[in-house]
Amino acid sequence: MAQDSAADTRQQQLNLIKQADLTHHLHPFTDDNALKQHGPLVVTAAKGTRLFVETGIQLLDMVAGLGCVNIGYGREDMAERAAQVVGELSFYHTFQGATNPYTAVLAKKLSEMTPGHLNKSFFTNSGSEANETIVKLARAYWRLKGKPEKIQVVAREYAYHGSTLMTASLNGLPAMHQAYGLPLDGVHHIPSTAWYRNGGDQSPEDFALTCARALEAKVERIGADRIGLLFVEPVQVGAGVVFSSPAYWAELQRIAKAHDILIAVDETVTGFGRMGEWVYHPKLGIEADFVCLAKGMSSGYQPVGAAMVADHVAEVLAEGGVTQHGFTTSGHPVVAGLCLKNIEILAQEYLLDTVRESLGPRFQDRLQSLADHPLVGEVRGEGLAAGIELVADKATRRQYPLDQGVCGQISNAALMQGVVVRPVGNALVLCPPLVVNDAEIEHTVSVLESALDEVHGRLT
Ligand code: PLP
Repeated sequence: MAQDSAADTRQQQLNLIKQADLTHHLHPFTDDNALKQHGPLVVTAAKGTRLFVETGIQLLDMVAGLGCVNIGYGREDMAERAAQVVGELSFYHTFQGATNPYTAVLAKKLSEMTPGHLNKSFFTNSGSEANETIVKLARAYWRLKGKPEKIQVVAREYAYHGSTLMTASLNGLPAMHQAYGLPLDGVHHIPSTAWYRNGGDQSPEDFALTCARALEAKVERIGADRIGLLFVEPVQVGAGVVFSSPAYWAELQRIAKAHDILIAVDETVTGFGRMGEWVYHPKLGIEADFVCLAKGMSSGYQPVGAAMVADHVAEVLAEGGVTQHGFTTSGHPVVAGLCLKNIEILAQEYLLDTVRESLGPRFQDRLQSLADHPLVGEVRGEGLAAGIELVADKATRRQYPLDQGVCGQISNAALMQGVVVRPVGNALVLCPPLVVNDAEIEHTVSVLESALDEVHGRLT
């Protein structure tokens, strides 16, 4: 009886929460009609790789939140660090030369974890703000160099760099442009190296070089004196984990350097161990003038981002006097304290080495077993990022029309069996916490197999 009434009270509280949310919460990236129909998903707790939802349902999160919870959810040592720093210094800003021990040490730490020429960090609250900051710093750099007209920016199709006006413009996602009258003037796109989708009859190698040379064509059309910055993700994780070959990166950089175009590398998802490295782009031979860090920097325990700046850029910026840019909570002590603890955990628990040397290869190997499924065109990945590209016809690489929602049907079928994977276009993305174990990987593969079978059965 007492148990029944406790359950009733919980249900009433849950209903109140759902009603409050439905009435008052404007959600990001949410279909309003679907929300009204199904109601919000109330996540009440999380631990390790597990989410606890509403009335005790448990989900295995193979997406690490949004690719950010690298050390896993709900760690006591992170909670202790948060409480400690709140007790010491709950806030002070970093404007006009103010700092605090956590932020200063974090800035030093980031410079030690990245290539030798990256030694300065500007702190933000998100990846979007860090990328937005990079665009502004590049504009300031070119002004100081006496080339103020070099303000145009090139990014790639399918790119995701954020949700602010400029970063949404950089995204190679037409839906994000159409909704808001974007892109802003002076933002251009070149093709992504998504060969499986768009490579046609070209070999993957030839297609990649065609994509790189599209930058040359852009420069010829717009003028090297007007393009100042090229934005790239080392791997387009949000586009379905799309890779580019070392030959592509070499050619793209050759063209950028020939035309004096700075390169911004967005490591928002790929950083902090997801690919088994602190940052992944050096492995691809990319030399960055700017690097964006976010997500895994705090493992999602606090909102954070950083725009890292190469020495040669920082030297020029230093000539500019006062930086006319900053956020109230840039370099927040509690956030920086948590980032430092997160970095310590990643290092002390050998999570990068494990991802690089054993867990990552095992994860990729097990997912490859899905490649023979009739709905699967290609399984791509490295470290703990994987994309399963769906296909309607393997021989021609023909895809299902996006409005058929095949990918969403498969991820829903997996969700019904307690496993969260992310549908993006025609690809399923997996990027689990770095603490995922073999049994969880095995379980995910078998759930995906059954979800693919279920949807394939409906389609045929
Ligand atoms: N860049 C990349 C590659 C991302 O994946 C994301 C977010 O998913 C962002 C930037 C934007 O980061 P935030 O959502 O923290 O603004």
